[in-house]
Amino acid sequence: MNSSRAIYPGSFDPVHFGHLDVIHRSTHLFSNLIVAVAASKSKGPLFSVEERMAMLRETLGDNPAITILPLEGLLVDFAREHGVFTVIRGLRAVSDFEFEFQMALMNRKLEPRLETVYLTPKEDYTYLSSRIMKEVACFGGDVSQLVPPSAQARLARLSSQDSA
Ligand code: ADP
Repeated sequence: MNSSRAIYPGSFDPVHFGHLDVIHRSTHLFSNLIVAVAASKSKGPLFSVEERMAMLRETLGDNPAITILPLEGLLVDFAREHGVFTVIRGLRAVSDFEFEFQMALMNRKLEPRLETVYLTPKEDYTYLSSRIMKEVACFGGDVSQLVPPSAQARLARLSSQDSA
């Protein structure tokens, strides 16, 4: 039995199938996964942390192997608080690499126990990003094949408010 734990941090603004693919892969590798929803104020999020957590909860249901928590401040402080030093990140393409590499090294500098593990999604999802989902949905495009119903409903609500 694998009794290891890991943290999957991100903005999840909103959650999409690329994130869910990484989450499901992680649950095969780790017995408990903390999905940590970062405030990400500098990214100018569309949804509040509470809404982003609600979308994840509605999608992931009551899986005892997954805990959804808000992440404020530094990831290394969160890792120390929870005693979990493995971080999962998704790699979509080479374009993600430079930023992820910098982050991993900086985090390890701040907390030498921290290790970052990279997972690649199913190839159908490598082009997905929350930013693209928001852009497409905001102009009324169909994202039903790309985001779970919890996110689709909220995106549709926002796009209908925009066009009202
Ligand atoms: P986004 O870049 O979509 O705003 P987040 O900040 O929520 O994503 O990303 C959290 C983590 O999920 C990051 O490691 C990011 O690289 C990863 N990720 C995002 N989209 C995908 C995807 N389509 N496939 C695999 N990993 C992804």
